[in-house]
Amino acid sequence: MISPAEAMVLIRRHAVKPKIKIARLGECLGAVLAADIRAPFPMPVADNSAMDGFVIRSKDAGLASVKNSVRLKIIGTLKAGDSKQVHLVSGTACRIMTGAFMPQGGDCVIAKEDAVIVGNHLIVKHSVCEGQHIRRRGEETRKGQKLLTQGVILHPARIGILATFGYARVPVYCKPKVAVLATGSELVTPGKKLSRGKIYDSNSWMVCAALERMGIDPSRVLTLRDDRGKVKKAILDVLRESDYLLLLGGVSVGDYDVVKDALKQSGVKTIFWKVSQKPGKPLFLGRKYKKVVFGLPGNPAAVFTCFYEYVYPALRQTMGFVRPGLEEETVKVSGRVLPDSKRCLFLKAKMEVRSSWRLPKARILSHQGSHMLSSLAEADGFLKVPASGNSAPNKKGFQMDFLPYEVDGEKDVK
Ligand code: AMP
Ligand code: MG
Repeated sequence: MISPAEAMVLIRRHAVKPKIKIARLGECLGAVLAADIRAPFPMPVADNSAMDGFVIRSKDAGLASVKNSVRLKIIGTLKAGDSKQVHLVSGTACRIMTGAFMPQGGDCVIAKEDAVIVGNHLIVKHSVCEGQHIRRRGEETRKGQKLLTQGVILHPARIGILATFGYARVPVYCKPKVAVLATGSELVTPGKKLSRGKIYDSNSWMVCAALERMGIDPSRVLTLRDDRGKVKKAILDVLRESDYLLLLGGVSVGDYDVVKDALKQSGVKTIFWKVSQKPGKPLFLGRKYKKVVFGLPGNPAAVFTCFYEYVYPALRQTMGFVRPGLEEETVKVSGRVLPDSKRCLFLKAKMEVRSSWRLPKARILSHQGSHMLSSLAEADGFLKVPASGNSAPNKKGFQMDFLPYEVDGEKDVK
């Protein structure tokens, strides 16, 4: 049996290597960028107007005042998108709209709100200065400047930046192909009738939902009876087309826990089996070729804990995330914590509302059994309670690591 930390090291080492694809902008949301992106041209690409108003030559009206107003002839209009070349000579002005490129000779914009128009003339009653209300070529971004760094998550604003610079496709890390295979002769799909001895299959629904939240559409979802031959056949079939296979249930030591045998017969090499933790002790990690197999013990809370503690970081490593695991936070525990002498505990806990700058507090919930899901509905993370060794003190107000799994917006990596 290995410790959770040792299991994590092995998972990081064996996770499927990230692959890169060139993705269309419309399919990039949430993906991790696989290369630095630089500006192919300066931004703005040319001097343009920051206001709707009039473009003039500043020398014409540098000393204008209420008493000494200047009359300039309006010679035309420039709209955003116009490609015509206008040359502005002394004594003239041109209507200009926000975003329109500056005409040759024009070097200052008078806002429409400040303009007085008489007939076909602009009357300037206040002094102006060169460059006013003009967005300069390259003032925001130089040509060749780095726009986005490899490893960042493409959220809406970053997708906007890519579009601004004309990128229709960018290199991103691929999402892995993940198959889910739940085993148990007792399992019935929700919606069907339950007969004596049966239970509803909650695990595959829960795991598929967790995958979907990560942006992964499971490539296959199967529920099988505890039949070694059928499980073996499914493992071989599914492995061919997947990067990861998540087996739910049947990896423990019961007489009908056929998954381990089926894996062995399928040629899946064991990397580890059993982690000194609660819940989820019989966690299995294996490999065949470059494919990774997780065997999660079937108790629903064990499945959930093992998914977020081990499967989630592995998948995110493959997806190119720089910090793939749940981000630990230090919290103060309200109430008593009773560590286990040999096994690390993952306790379902709820973060209490942060009252001040002090450490946040987490409350351990009732119903911690590995067969119980109800506390998970209320919890927003796990409290990681390390094995205490031989001295097993009762601790109150203790500081420890909290692993929030309720990730609404994925946190950034850089
Ligand atoms: P196992 O790991 O297969 O020995 O299963 C441990 C416990 O979890 C048993 O009580 C199973 O009935 C239950 N269990 C296994 N698979 C599922 C599932 N897909 N949904 C809900 N409970 C399950
Ligand atoms: Mg079973």
